[in-house]
Amino acid sequence: MPATQTWVRVGKVAFGRGVFARTNIPAQTIVGEVEGRVILDAEYASAYCIDLGHEMSLEPRAPFRYLNHCCTPNCQLVMTEVEHEDGSPAPSEIHLETLTAIPEGAELTIDYAWSADGAIPCLCGSTSCRGWVVAEEELAKLQKPTRRAPRKSGPTGAVGSTRKSSGKAKRSQSAAPPRKPK
Ligand SMILES: [Zn+2]
Repeated sequence: MPATQTWVRVGKVAFGRGVFARTNIPAQTIVGEVEGRVILDAEYASAYCIDLGHEMSLEPRAPFRYLNHCCTPNCQLVMTEVEHEDGSPAPSEIHLETLTAIPEGAELTIDYAWSADGAIPCLCGSTSCRGWVVAEEELAKLQKPTRRAPRKSGPTGAVGSTRKSSGKAKRSQSAAPPRKPK
């Protein structure tokens, strides 16, 4: 059995599928490589695809295709840049690594860190939930344009400073595949 399958299995969640620990997984464990189809199209987008940089995306296969987002994830994707022998960029390798120890039966999650233009409301249930499936640094973009007036507002209620602000330190940029700087 491949190493990945000794650690995880795909299971059902309320809104689809998720990846669950088959056994207790220690922190900082490489659970496996995220494999799939590499797509050479800068405009490519799908619900599951991972930005590999260099205008490449990865359409992951199971089990990691079914990794769900959480605003306080217990795993992160680690990207290893790969080059062809001539020095030109090859599709990066992506591995899933645990951030914390994960008990048997618990769901493995990552921070999708989407850009604001693709964000959807987040239902992760974390006490630190940002409210949107979006990168922490993109959150401000969502809060301004989409801010709605409260339904019931007193004379002073309609205007206010942004309520939500996440004061916690960003753990790691590699928690989700970042847009690669040129
Ligand atoms: Zn959330």
